[in-house]
Amino acid sequence: MSGLAYRGRLAPSPTGFLHLGHGRTFWIAQARAAAHNGTLILRNDDLDGARCRAPFVDAMLEDLRWVGLSWSEGPDCGGPFAPYNQSQRLPHYQAAFARLRRANAIYPCTCSRQEVLRALSAPHPEDDEPLYSGKCRPADSPGTSGTPGTDLDSAGLAALPAAPVNWRFRVPYGQSISFLDQALGQCAQVAGRDFGDFLVWRKDGAPSYQLACVVDDAAMGITEVVRGEDLIPSTFRQILLYEALGIARPEFYHCPLLNDSEGKRLAKRHDAASLRAQRAQGISPAALQRGWGCRSA
Ligand code: GLU
Ligand code: ZN
Repeated sequence: MSGLAYRGRLAPSPTGFLHLGHGRTFWIAQARAAAHNGTLILRNDDLDGARCRAPFVDAMLEDLRWVGLSWSEGPDCGGPFAPYNQSQRLPHYQAAFARLRRANAIYPCTCSRQEVLRALSAPHPEDDEPLYSGKCRPADSPGTSGTPGTDLDSAGLAALPAAPVNWRFRVPYGQSISFLDQALGQCAQVAGRDFGDFLVWRKDGAPSYQLACVVDDAAMGITEVVRGEDLIPSTFRQILLYEALGIARPEFYHCPLLNDSEGKRLAKRHDAASLRAQRAQGISPAALQRGWGCRSA
């Protein structure tokens, strides 16, 4: 662990009601922050305007409080790194995008595909970004590259395409990316084999979840990211973004997921597993907390 004071975060998306899986992951996040005498912040991951709804933001805050979570910075209480709503942080993402362009780490992609639509939300196993074919990827060797025939400006950058396009991060093909997970130990994946060039910016002017998450975790001084194991594939991509942006990465702690009775990962479509349904059935927060145990530091 770095010598910095521990700062953790809860980063729910208001696309539906939170369920038991969120509750347990956030409970672990809170326990880790407490065990390190740290600070816990709440970030509202509401980038995806088409899927996020204001009533879910209110419900999210209410459910989190009901289940026994508390935070000292967030959209409801402010803090030194406000705003805590991603939808209000576009300038931060634009600055990071400009840096990635200067580093020649990204390239315009003109393929139009369904996956582009979903890049605003954190990818879970059933909707993870497919391995990109590399069709629009310029020749390798950042700094000297550029698609043949592309105009390079004095900084060696490809001119901005005339029409808005999507932008992808050029992953280092064949390179093994690894990190020491604080729960699982060493994790590694090979870029270009396990995941491909991923979206960082959409042509409608919005950053992808991957970019927004890295920018905010860094800007908000997060020292450890606690989240579900379903986001491990995202962690590898985010590590590449930290490197390209020249910022130190946090520690990562991935929590096991809760499954339904058929062994499928709990998702927002499981109404009966929502925290509000539990509450309506008279289940107490204390009973839920006991069930979650406490895998803290
Ligand atoms: N907001 C994302 C989600 O609900 C999680 C982001 C994260 O923890 O990195 O899936
Ligand atoms: Zn393309």
